[in-house]
Amino acid sequence: MTHNFSAGPAMLPAPVLKKAQKELLDWQGRGVSVMEISHRSPAYIAMAEQAEQDLRDLMSIPDNYAVLFMHGGGRSQFSAVPQNIAGADATVDYLDTGNWSQIAEKEAAKYVARVNRVASVTDSEQGKMIPPQASWNLTPGAAYLHYCPNETVDGIALHEIPEVSAPLVADMSSVILAESLDVSKFGVIYAGAQKNIGPSGFAVVIVRRDLLATQQNSVCTVMNYQVQDTEKSMYNTPNTFAWYLAGEVFKWIKAEGGVQVMQARNHAKAKLLYECIDNNPFYKNQIHPQNRSIMNVPFQLLKPELDNEFLKQAEQRGLMALKGHRFVGGMRASMYNAMPLEGTRALVDFMTEFARTHK
Ligand SMILES: *Cc1c(COP(=O)(O)O)cnc(C)c1O
Repeated sequence: MTHNFSAGPAMLPAPVLKKAQKELLDWQGRGVSVMEISHRSPAYIAMAEQAEQDLRDLMSIPDNYAVLFMHGGGRSQFSAVPQNIAGADATVDYLDTGNWSQIAEKEAAKYVARVNRVASVTDSEQGKMIPPQASWNLTPGAAYLHYCPNETVDGIALHEIPEVSAPLVADMSSVILAESLDVSKFGVIYAGAQKNIGPSGFAVVIVRRDLLATQQNSVCTVMNYQVQDTEKSMYNTPNTFAWYLAGEVFKWIKAEGGVQVMQARNHAKAKLLYECIDNNPFYKNQIHPQNRSIMNVPFQLLKPELDNEFLKQAEQRGLMALKGHRFVGGMRASMYNAMPLEGTRALVDFMTEFARTHK
């Protein structure tokens, strides 16, 4: 039995892959796959609309929000956001919680007059933490505040939604659909698909429609939110297969009981792994308990010289892709919606035994 802890592209639910496999040679009795028909055909459009509706149901997305299925994964939204919802003369606020928010901030600087970093992660006795909102240096009249609720590389999360007057923009690439969420608190939510939704190169954007009138003239038409909203995300040919797979993942989440069920499972997995780390002096996690990610759990061995041995033995047991990000080192276990509790249990059992035999 293989358990794939990859941070992304990440594992997909087995029932989704099996169904896709079955449908590759014959989708809906057509004798062809969904990849091989026109995106303008009624059958494709029905599938695409159902996928959007299922996402709307799962996240309770209000009607005044557009749901866009876009190209280019998470990072392309780093430039799409400022070009679509801020003027070239605007100031925009960015919260720096780690790797991804820093890259997003740098990209935004190409398109607006001023990018203001409101706060950065700090060290504390209990580990790295995100400073409380009261200490943030917010710009009055900022076009938006951008933040990344779950930093995939660092394993740092902001569990409270910031309360600010500017529209809130969130990079939810690694946490969308993992916990229930009040979408109405946001101006834009975007996510690269390859963690909790489907294949890479594809992205979901949820944007409040009143923000769609402010785009810069130079924005690439394929990345223009208003155009894609009007064209139902088919201004050009969408990634039809990714859209189909995303739709199958949405159906799977619905069938499992919805986002609440995912949330309960995700919290149970995270609790199990953090308890293992905290109760065993052989391992450590360097994030303050209040900012620990439930999706991506980085941890270090007390004896880093054993890292390779740990990874080798883990792989022999089918526990794959546990090597930490090259910026952080050590280990990282990513446990998105598709990771079953048994996967985390198998990891914790292995970690306990490895610690015992390598004291
Ligand atoms: C993976 C990830 C991205 C990058 O996505 P790409 O599709 O590779 O561009 C951006 N932000 C976050 C938070 C991520 O986890």
